[in-house]
Amino acid sequence: MQYPEPIERLIDSYMKLPGIGEKTATRLAFFTIDMDQDDVAAFASSLTAAKTQLHYCSVCGNITDDDPCSICTDTSRDQTKILVVEQVKDVMSIDRMDEYHGLYHVLHGVMSPLEGTGPEDLNIASLLHRLQDNDAVNEVIVATNATPEGEATAMYLARLIKPAGIRVTRLAHGLAVGSDIEYADQMTLMKAVEGRTEI
Ligand SMILES: [Zn+2]
Repeated sequence: MQYPEPIERLIDSYMKLPGIGEKTATRLAFFTIDMDQDDVAAFASSLTAAKTQLHYCSVCGNITDDDPCSICTDTSRDQTKILVVEQVKDVMSIDRMDEYHGLYHVLHGVMSPLEGTGPEDLNIASLLHRLQDNDAVNEVIVATNATPEGEATAMYLARLIKPAGIRVTRLAHGLAVGSDIEYADQMTLMKAVEGRTEI
């Protein structure tokens, strides 16, 4: 037996979310049906708004509803430093500890020969353009994760950027090997930024 079509469609939609199987999706679908009309309307419109109003900043690759984003346009930030991260979530992790006040650049991944991700698949060209167009920058801090792919990407960036006379540094290894910035605690991150070393 099948549920009525609208319920089946709702279940299918929930199953598109990560970690949600049919059982959970069915539970969520029935929960949704029991919600207030207003709450359901607000939920539906925030889903659509998040998708239509947000895009990546054309300068740094961070997620934003304005272009350039509020970090890129904040002139009170230290314009001499760009900190490079793998993903948007890392910007938030680093910025909320209030230790680093420079600019950011989001790669949207790391180089991974196994997964067929090369430099051309990452947001690297726009980083090089930023460095060419703006001679205020004197340090690029590579904060990719402490994984083999993160290390390889850091080395690749250092080879590209150092010839331009810009310092390239890497976060100190207070971060355990294989660990993700996303899950590091504030103190560890703070020490990693303070103790960064030249590569
Ligand atoms: Zn930006």
